[in-house]
Amino acid sequence: MQGQDAIIALAEELAAATRIALFTGAGISTESGIPDFRGPGGLWSRNKPINFNDFIRSEAMRREAWRRKFATEATLRAARPNRGHRACAHLVAHGRAGAVITQNIDGLHQDSGIPDAQVIEVHGNATYAHCLDCRTRYELAAIRVDFERDGSLPHCRWCNGIVKTATVSFGQAMPVAEMRRAEAETLAADLFVVLGSSLVVYPAAGLPVLAKRNGARLVIVNREPTEMDELADLVIHDGIGDILGGALNLP
Ligand code: NAD
Ligand code: ZN
Repeated sequence: MQGQDAIIALAEELAAATRIALFTGAGISTESGIPDFRGPGGLWSRNKPINFNDFIRSEAMRREAWRRKFATEATLRAARPNRGHRACAHLVAHGRAGAVITQNIDGLHQDSGIPDAQVIEVHGNATYAHCLDCRTRYELAAIRVDFERDGSLPHCRWCNGIVKTATVSFGQAMPVAEMRRAEAETLAADLFVVLGSSLVVYPAAGLPVLAKRNGARLVIVNREPTEMDELADLVIHDGIGDILGGALNLP
């Protein structure tokens, strides 16, 4: 479904729901100028992601990871929440959704005004770094100065552990507390809405399946077909901002 029909159908689903779970992927942030992974022209086609084990084992890989990070920093920093983020914030602010579960690492849900406690980041956050051993937080700006001066890689000042952006890389363990909260939100909902995810990255992509098994209705809003379209009660192949913003009658 697309266009006006899709807006009406989504509005009906939202109105009928008692509690909504919002699950967002890279697709909600493309309208803010951040490329997705698997959409057309996505990052996937340009740079294969660096696996966690390679990052740990190889200094060259760590250097490459930081080089890429700083090459894309300006885009991430300049990005502002768009109509889709604002619509999610509206649903949370009005108690229609308990939280946003996001695979995104860009911090735009928080920037749209949703309190930290109501953004569940299952893949971490790329706007800061931390020590992999003791979790001390480090800011990117200072790391960048050293890296660009002589290529030096960040280490923890307290325990000498490896410092990495606070994201969950491929091959890295999922954050246990966040996954638990994401599951609880999923199980509490009678409507689960996927916004801009190809639904191929597990275990996060297991959440819509869990919602469905628990008896919730499932809506997928994604420009392209996803792995789980067949499972959904409503599938909308259109842009998130106009569809969700339109369904809620928000600018
Ligand atoms: P994905 O790239 O696999 O899928 C994104 C989907 O969104 C695509 O199918 C695309 O067709 C669709 N899409 C793009 N723009 C859209 C729009 N405006 N409206 C509707 N649909 C749109 O993304 P994923 O499933 O989130 O998996 C990628 C992984 O990479 C995530 O785990 C995430 O952590 C990471 N990632 C994050 C960001 C970010 O934080 N903004 C960006 C790229 C990748
Ligand atoms: Zn440390």
